[in-house]
This record gives sequence, C-alpha cells and structure tokens, in this order.
Amino acid sequence: MQTPTIILSIAGSDPSGGAGIQADIKTISALGGYAAAAITAITVQNTRGVTSVDYLPGPLVAAQTEAVLGDLHPAAVKIGMTGRADIIVNLAACLSKYPDTPVVLDPVMLSSSGHPLMEPNATEALRTELFPRCRLVTPNLNEASFLLGKNLHTLQDMEQAATELSQHYGCAFLLKGGHLEGDRMTDVLFDEQTHHFSSARINTSNLHGTGCTLSSAIATFLGQGNSLPEAVRLAKAYMDKTIKAASQWEIGSGYGPLCH
Ligand code: PLP
Repeated sequence: MQTPTIILSIAGSDPSGGAGIQADIKTISALGGYAAAAITAITVQNTRGVTSVDYLPGPLVAAQTEAVLGDLHPAAVKIGMTGRADIIVNLAACLSKYPDTPVVLDPVMLSSSGHPLMEPNATEALRTELFPRCRLVTPNLNEASFLLGKNLHTLQDMEQAATELSQHYGCAFLLKGGHLEGDRMTDVLFDEQTHHFSSARINTSNLHGTGCTLSSAIATFLGQGNSLPEAVRLAKAYMDKTIKAASQWEIGSGYGPLCH
C-alpha cells in the first residue's frame, strides 16, 4: 500500500479551467501529488474576464477543510481566493487545529482581468488571522504594494518589502516580480535570508492562472519534502514550462490558460 503526497487546495472555482481550484488540481496532479479541494467561491468567468463572484458561507468552507484535514492528513495546504472575512475567520479557526501542516497562501485580491476577488474589509482578517499561520505568502507586486501601503518599482524595493513583510507577519514572503519591466523576471523570497529566482520573460498573453499554478506547485514540492527555497525553484521551473507550452495554445478569445 502506498500513500501519495496529498495536497489540499482551498480556493475559488473558475469554470474556464484556467485559474482557481481547477488550475490547482491540474498542477498538483501533474507534479505527482493527490489533489483534494475545498471551494470558497464560485466565479463566473472565461478567458475574457470575470462577470460574477458568489462566496460560500464561512462555516461551509471550514467544514470542507476539516473533512479533508481530519481524514486525508494532507502534507501541505494551498490557499488561494478567500474573498471574505467570514471565510477567513472560519478557515483560520479550522487550520489552528493542525499547526504542523504547512500552508502556502496566494493573497488573491484581483483577477488577472482586474475584477475584485476580495471584499475590501477582508484584507485586515487576512493579515491578522491567516498570514501568521502560513509558511509562505506569495503576493504579486500590486498585492505587496497594497499590503505595505507604498509603491514598489525596483528589485531593491522588492527585497526590502519581502524582508519587512516577513518580519512583520512571522512567515516567509515570496514577492513575484512579473509586473516589473524587463527581459528577465525576478522573484524575491525572504525566509530568514533573501533568495532570488530569475527567469527569461516569455512573450505570451496566455498567463491566466500563473499565481494559482505557482503557489500550488510550491505547496506540492514542500509536501514532497523539499526545503522552501528548493520548492520555489522547482515550482518556478514548472511554471515556466507550462507558460512556454501555453504560448502555442489557442483557447478562448482572451487571456488563455497555462498548459499543464
Ligand atoms: N482564483 C480564482 C478563482 C480566480 O478566478 C483567479 C483569477 O481570475 C485567481 C485565483 C487568480 O488568478 P492568477 O493565478 O491569474 O493570479
């Protein structure tokens, strides 16, 4: 008998299969893990954008999470779109019963097309209830700027921001530099010390679900026993592979999904 590496994704549903829980399940499965999934919200969207978001009640999100944590004992948890204070507070209470399970959190605030995926009063709950419980938080530049209340323009700004956020919330932070200009993209991890991860920019608009893919890949590699910097390195290499393959794909008429 064998138990595969079980990863629980807690995230929103994207019916077009590019982002959210669908991207997470594809990623975890492609990397050899077993994917369990607890749903926080139902979005209506396709490659052209998000048209609506309905959140599930917080206790129902926590009940799904508890059902998986109490029985399947996942090696790691990935949290994506949480959306609402009620969901965050219930989730945090449930996760507090499993302090040894590493949590990777993508603080999803906006869709790639610019639609809000988090209610304005939920960010405070995210900071106080969930960040301190995480092994890693993975904001993009806009999310990190919002969290710090200042704009980030350079690699130096990112290094300082990752350190500040990590020291403030007591968990590692990976700042994703994809929105900075240039031929190369650099992400900055602060986990007691600073690490850089640099890759060539791939020219494609098929980037829907990159944040979801990266965070669920990191959770899978962590669950498989890698150190955090090694899990980030492996996850970035996987994401590059899926973006390169997706650049040859035509799915829908807007921003297409990654190719897992
Ligand atoms: N989660 C859901 C349900 C989404 O719909 C989206 C974006 O549309 C995201 C997360 C974030 O997507 P990305 O990985 O492109 O940042």
